Amino acid sequence: MNTSTLLRHALRASGRQATISRPYVGTQSSRRLASTLALFEQRDGKLQPSAQNVVTAAKKLGNPVVGFVAGKAAKEAAEQAAKIEGVDKVVYVANEAYEKGLPESYAPLVAENAADDVSHIVSMHSAFGKNVMPRLAAILDVQQVSDVISIESADTFVRPIYAGNAIATVQSSDPKKLLTIRGTAFGNAPAGSGAAEIVEGKDSKHQGSVEWVEENLAVSDRPDLDTASKVVSGGRGLKDKENFEKIMIPLADSMGAAIGASRAAVDSGFADNSLQVGQTGKVVAPELYLSVGISGAIQHLAGMKDSKVIAAINKDPDAPIFQVADVGLVADLFKAVPELTEKLKK
Ligand code: FAD
Repeated sequence: MNTSTLLRHALRASGRQATISRPYVGTQSSRRLASTLALFEQRDGKLQPSAQNVVTAAKKLGNPVVGFVAGKAAKEAAEQAAKIEGVDKVVYVANEAYEKGLPESYAPLVAENAADDVSHIVSMHSAFGKNVMPRLAAILDVQQVSDVISIESADTFVRPIYAGNAIATVQSSDPKKLLTIRGTAFGNAPAGSGAAEIVEGKDSKHQGSVEWVEENLAVSDRPDLDTASKVVSGGRGLKDKENFEKIMIPLADSMGAAIGASRAAVDSGFADNSLQVGQTGKVVAPELYLSVGISGAIQHLAGMKDSKVIAAINKDPDAPIFQVADVGLVADLFKAVPELTEKLKK
């Protein structure tokens, strides 16, 4: 892989965003190839809903979409994937070795199943995609394009840079283009009426040198933070873990919302690491994002500023969160939030 040549570098201020165009120049010649491999995540044979976002993105590339899924009960997941509208074929590899998506074994497996006619490989910009795709890019000797929020054409993609403060339009001339996509930027392809062909893929001889030891999952009945339509997030203003739980849990439950947190709240031990929203946490774009006791640092905004409606409660009228909020309440959260929760319960 040779280094990308910076052909054009234009920073155009437009409100809070700017555009940088940066074509990549690959070593290998571009040629017209025929299909897009869409990597789907599964758990115990249950296809993850993000598959529908991956299909929406894959369809935009203009070629037939071939889904790929691997794991212990991959055939069951493949049967669910075959029903997603827009999927033409699903390839599965049923082997427990791939159940946890360990990149050391999963990436060579995908490489072996990515036939010559595969022009694009698309996955979510999730922990799975961020693990597997860079290794796959190295195996295939191509450059990955990460966190894509828009597909302009088969070789031109839009992605945020500088914590979302600028938007880069990049062009890839690699023969196989590897994309991780931001799920919230692509809608859900309808599931249910598709009837794609299901075929067994090639199992890889490379089983990798890494062994899965254990996992500790945070189990919650609340909506998943990544996909929830409503998110309530708490910050350092909540002062401690006890307050965080006493104030944020009833608020979330009264709204049917997922709970998020600022990094300061996570670092102070108020909330679990998996709830962090922002540049180094999760990127969410719900219908409603309600921030409570969060100042609105740029790194936090990077994870939530694409939310449809942003509401904020903060006692400081000059808090930066109010610059992005559609609805703001200057108030003491310890008084305002319990009152709001009571009203929402009625
Ligand atoms: P603070 O900045 O301390 O704000 C607390 C707010 O609560 C204040 O605005 C205050 O007015 C308000 N408040 C206090 N008491 C009350 C009350 N009684 N009622 C109402 N309001 C009250 N941050 C993230 O969130 N996510 C990230 O992913 C992230 N990544 C980072 C990456 C890097 C490389 C760096 C350097 C920083 C990152 N940060 C991230 C940290 C970020 O810069 C801020 O420090 C953090 O977001 C601040 O969290 P906060 O708003 O909860 O706390």
